[in-house]
Amino acid sequence: MNGAASIRRKMSRNPAPGAPRHAYSGSLLERAAGKRNDEAGLAALAESNRAGYYVIGGESVVLKINGEKLDPLFSVAEAGAFGRSRETVFLGLRNDEPRFGRGLDADAVEPLKARKDLKLIDLRSIALQGAVAAEHVPPLAEAKAILGWHARHQFCPNCGARTVPVQGGWRRDCPACKAEHFPRTDPVVIMLAIAGERCVLGRSPRFPPTMWSCLAGFAEPGESIEEAVRREVQEEVGLTCGRVKYFASQPWPFPSSLMIGCHAQAQTETIVIDESEIEDARWFDREELKLMLARQHPEGFTTPPPIAIAHHIVRDFVDNGCKVLE
Ligand SMILES: [Zn+2]
Repeated sequence: MNGAASIRRKMSRNPAPGAPRHAYSGSLLERAAGKRNDEAGLAALAESNRAGYYVIGGESVVLKINGEKLDPLFSVAEAGAFGRSRETVFLGLRNDEPRFGRGLDADAVEPLKARKDLKLIDLRSIALQGAVAAEHVPPLAEAKAILGWHARHQFCPNCGARTVPVQGGWRRDCPACKAEHFPRTDPVVIMLAIAGERCVLGRSPRFPPTMWSCLAGFAEPGESIEEAVRREVQEEVGLTCGRVKYFASQPWPFPSSLMIGCHAQAQTETIVIDESEIEDARWFDREELKLMLARQHPEGFTTPPPIAIAHHIVRDFVDNGCKVLE
C-alpha cells in the first residue's frame, strides 16, 4: 500500500469529530466547562429564553410532538411545568445557546405518558429509529448518563450523608466529610478476536434470536485495556489472545459505560464457552460476515445495527482483514 492510500485508510477508520458512524458520540455541543464554576452566570443561563432543556425520567426521554416531527428540546417554562424534577445539569453550549439536562422523578414521568402532545421513548429506540434530528442524540446521551449518575449517587459513599450537586451538576459534594464526588464512566472492552480470515462472535441470551456480536465485558480495577481484552476473551470463549489493537470508542449511557472497541489476535483455536456469560460462540469467516452485515445470510444471522460500535468493529475486519491488527 502506498503512503497516500495508507493515510486514507487510517483516516477512514478514524473519522473527524462531528462525523459519527455510531450513535451517541460526535456531539456538536461545546461543553464550556469553564462556566461550571460560575453559579450566578449558570443560573442566568438556565432562566434565559435561549436555553434548551433535554428532559429525562429514568429510561424515558420526553419528546415534544411537533406536527410530523419529534422535538427533544423544551424551553425553561415548558421543562418547569413537568412537575417535580431532580437535578438540572449544564450540558454545554450549541452556537452560544445553553443546553441543560433536566431529570424528572419517576412519579412525574407517569402522568406524561397520557399526554397527546408528548412522546416518551427510550434512548436506544431514539437512535435506532432516527426519531429526532441526529445532532440531538449525543447530548441526550450526555444528559442521560449524568442524570443517571445523580439519581444513583444521592448519598456519600464515604460517610453516608446526603450529598449536594455543584459545578453545574458535574460534581457532588458531601457537607459532612467534605469528600468531592465526580461522575463515573465505566470502561467496557468490546472486541473481535481474529485469526487469519476468521473471527469469533458470540450470543448473549438477551440477544434477538438471530443476532451474533463481539464479546464484551467490564474492565476491572488494576487492568489495562489490553489486559481486559485478553482476560474477557479467555473467560468467555477460552481463547488466548496476543496483540490487541484499539479501534474506536462509543459512549453507551445504559447507564454509564464507555465501550472501548478493539481487535485482538487469537493465538489458539478451540472455543470453550462460559455458559454463565454467553449461550453460544463460534468462528465466522469474512465472507459469512459480509452476508450478515448485508442481512443476506442464508440462516438469517445478523450483526448488531450501525448505531452500535460492534457493527463497525466487524465491518472494519470485513473491509480490511488482518490489517486491522497492524
Ligand atoms: Zn461524606
